[in-house]
Amino acid sequence: MLKIRNKIFSNKKVYIESYGCQMNFSDSEIVSSILLKEGFDHTKTVENADLILINTCSIREKAEENIRKRLSFFNSLKKKNNNLKIGVLGCMAERLKEKLLHEEKVVDLVAGPDSYRNLPDLIKKTSKGYKSIDTKLSKVETYDDIIPHHFDSNNITGLISIMRGCDNMCSFCVVPFTRGRERSRNPNSIVKEAKGLFEKGFREVTLLGQNVDSYRWSRFSNNKKDLEKLQNDSESISFSNLLEMVALIDPDLRIRFSTSHPKDITDDVLHVIKKYENICNYIHLPAQSGNNRILKLMNRTYTREWYLNKINSIRNIVGDNCGISSDFISGFCSETNKEHKDTLSLMDHIKYDYSYTFSYSEREGTMAERKFSDDIPDNIKQKRLSELIIKQRKHSFYRNKLCVNKTYKVLIEGLSKKSENNFKGRNSENKMIVFPKEKYNIGDYVNVKVLNCNSATLFGKILN
Ligand code: SF4
Repeated sequence: MLKIRNKIFSNKKVYIESYGCQMNFSDSEIVSSILLKEGFDHTKTVENADLILINTCSIREKAEENIRKRLSFFNSLKKKNNNLKIGVLGCMAERLKEKLLHEEKVVDLVAGPDSYRNLPDLIKKTSKGYKSIDTKLSKVETYDDIIPHHFDSNNITGLISIMRGCDNMCSFCVVPFTRGRERSRNPNSIVKEAKGLFEKGFREVTLLGQNVDSYRWSRFSNNKKDLEKLQNDSESISFSNLLEMVALIDPDLRIRFSTSHPKDITDDVLHVIKKYENICNYIHLPAQSGNNRILKLMNRTYTREWYLNKINSIRNIVGDNCGISSDFISGFCSETNKEHKDTLSLMDHIKYDYSYTFSYSEREGTMAERKFSDDIPDNIKQKRLSELIIKQRKHSFYRNKLCVNKTYKVLIEGLSKKSENNFKGRNSENKMIVFPKEKYNIGDYVNVKVLNCNSATLFGKILN
């Protein structure tokens, strides 16, 4: 529980900027809520801030370079305002710890993902002229009693963290080091938060975790001594149970979730998706590679054949129309051209609706950095990456063309970026559809007939 304090930060304004995955955006909403309770106001104008917090990502070197550029811009603001304080949160804070305070003199405060309850004290310290840091990771923190402040939301679609950390140790990934051990949040607090959002007018929630399929909560969850009891607790709540609990809140509340792991997603989850119309027909199932030797080096703990079986289960249980997307890494340590071609052939086989593609970026401290050599030259990584991108674009277009002349139930999320005369919204399969604005409101569900498409977007009209 938050301690009751005097509102020592009354009249102070905080500006929060978030980078990286949806978990970071969700965490920033928790941070904002903690600071609002302490008297801070939120500002969307960085120049008006007394405190700037930047919630960072460490997944790739480029992500960290961008943060450092942003910090040098904040330094220019600090020169105009001596009292301005700058804090770094999230994965980069956790990864670099004190080093960040030494390397980036502009930074006053460093807080890792499990230290946000301590932010008021850390900020107080900076106001006395000291630098402050807390990067302790927790085995139990889930922030489950904190109702996030949705300061940057469209008030229609919301993010809900259902767990924190990751126990998977994929060899390329820094997340287990920056976000700590996996822990699941109390399902009652998740349902309460989802209900609260629905009552405020939100019509979609995305349940977030690094590996949602390993969500498991039991009354023994937060006691390390009771690990054995946790493993044998027949009354524990699995991810499929949780999905069902959230789906039952109201048929008009749509549910999405991210991210699934191919080794953990179960048929139970797929059956629950099929059973409830308001659980979206869309699964992000990162493959990372289509080659078994590379998957083993990545410590993904499944094979190409296992992965293809999971795709078959999705198509058989949820249906052929289920949207499926993936992540892929090009040029992982020792990847041959033939092994890269296996990834392309996996893509050809599945024809994903969408893929997030990256070239391999070695991260300090990961298993890959310690055990393997980052030996694929940059130009080859980039060449393979562009082949993945071209392939995906072709498949996205193929999948989108299959939607033409079909009608979908679409949640209106806002105005289209390109024209205020058009609405935008997504269908259950997570495809973005743009259509002329009519008498409806943002947050309404409408039936939209798709008339044409490109590889990124469907275009249609509302059927009255
Ligand atoms: S599942 Fe693997 S890639 Fe995803 S966060 Fe965990 S370690 Fe990283």
